[in-house]
Amino acid sequence: MKRAYLLLSPLLLTAVAFPQSKPASKPAAKSAASTKTKSASAKAKGKTAPKADSAAAIHESALVIDTHADTPQRFLDEYFDIGDNTPVSEGHIDLGKIKKGNLGAEFFSIWVEPDFKGHYAKRAMDLIDSVYQQAARHPDQMMMAFSADDIVRAHEQHKFAALLGIEGGHAIENDVHLLRDFHRLGVRYMTLTWSNTNEWADSSGDIKDPNVKHYNGMTDFGKDVVREMNRLGMMVDISHTSDATFYQALLISQAPVIASHSSSRELTNHPRNMTDDMLRAVALNNGVVMVNFFSAFIDEDFRKAFFDPEKGKQRDAELAAFVKEHPHTDGSPVGYNEVVGIEKKWAAQFPRPPLKSLIDHIDHIAKIAGVDHVGLGSDFDGVTSLPQEIDSVADLPKITAELLKRGYSKEDIHKILGGNLMRVFRDVEATAKRLQAEQKESDPLTFDQVMLMLGNRITSAHLIDLVHEHGVNFDLTPERREALKSLKADDAALETIAKNKKK
Ligand SMILES: [Zn+2]
Repeated sequence: MKRAYLLLSPLLLTAVAFPQSKPASKPAAKSAASTKTKSASAKAKGKTAPKADSAAAIHESALVIDTHADTPQRFLDEYFDIGDNTPVSEGHIDLGKIKKGNLGAEFFSIWVEPDFKGHYAKRAMDLIDSVYQQAARHPDQMMMAFSADDIVRAHEQHKFAALLGIEGGHAIENDVHLLRDFHRLGVRYMTLTWSNTNEWADSSGDIKDPNVKHYNGMTDFGKDVVREMNRLGMMVDISHTSDATFYQALLISQAPVIASHSSSRELTNHPRNMTDDMLRAVALNNGVVMVNFFSAFIDEDFRKAFFDPEKGKQRDAELAAFVKEHPHTDGSPVGYNEVVGIEKKWAAQFPRPPLKSLIDHIDHIAKIAGVDHVGLGSDFDGVTSLPQEIDSVADLPKITAELLKRGYSKEDIHKILGGNLMRVFRDVEATAKRLQAEQKESDPLTFDQVMLMLGNRITSAHLIDLVHEHGVNFDLTPERREALKSLKADDAALETIAKNKKK
């Protein structure tokens, strides 16, 4: 069993931190007329520039950010080069399509398939490397980005910004050191779970499965992971988590959270989607919900057909047959794209929902949570069906056109297309800066604090780290030694305490 290290500022261990709150913004609907008044004064650059304040101009002038695409598996497993133009039947993202869609930044998903048990971190590292490799191959068009400022810098250089987000907290293998390593490698968000409950947080994907051990949300370690993410400046992503995990993360997180790819449960009744209460909670937390484009998450009729248990059996049989017929001689798993190919063919039997269904989700979240709390989290290259008219990232301008038709202003559309995510990203960065400064200034540990931490099941190894960092302000009398021992402090921890008395 791996050591599940606890962490950080002792003050955080004792206090339940409430997120910074801010009332939800007003619903977004505005009259279409008001968006047209400025067109005369706005200047269009270049010969073929679209008319100012046309949908095309609004889209072209936006910093467009998508927070979820599963393309790294194509990079790694299919040797896909992002510079290659691929048919939309094979992939949703390449540099040509990115340009057409005016996508400024993508958070590439570092999704670790739970089948990689025993090698989660290695798989995550390989996927991370695959994104860096793409950026290295196309330095004139693309660059890695690690901060909100980096995204702006890339945009100014007319380059596509590639960012990294881990999908599935199991990737850290219950080890805070790995979490920090991933942050060093540039990972800037992590979904606390994928569809699988891990060893510290419940997932919506198996919450009703009695064979899976659940925690009614998160374990103590899971809560410390959230705190450490705050301290590092890694966005806490609640997509895929169970409702209980979601609410606990919101209570603990000192920074706004994101849902990198989640839609509305009120409109499409899937447990992966978010209830109106959850949307309002994200608004209070000043976070952002990035709408997932998957047909089964945005259209109730499609969802019912797609998840029909009888039809599901047929798909599973086809998949099993394929896997049997195509064993990889090197022992590697059947390629993600191969599996997706089968699933796509199977999903094609259900008519694609209209684009309206997707826009309805954006609109609903803007109305319930406020227009400051919604964005785009396509799930491109990770889903087997998209709504009509959205065949790839090249079609993002159609979303802008639909929002304009519904009366959204240019300012609000820009927020949805990327501004909201930038605000949250900057807020998360500022929170990390503050927490790191506070930690530096924190006083030596008191005896009561050490007792409380041990009572909270902090390990001796972690206590040693903290004592080295902060020192203690008390002498280790025989009585105190016994008291600490009774809470399982080991000899090494006691020795460290004895040596680190500060004045
Ligand atoms: Zn996902």
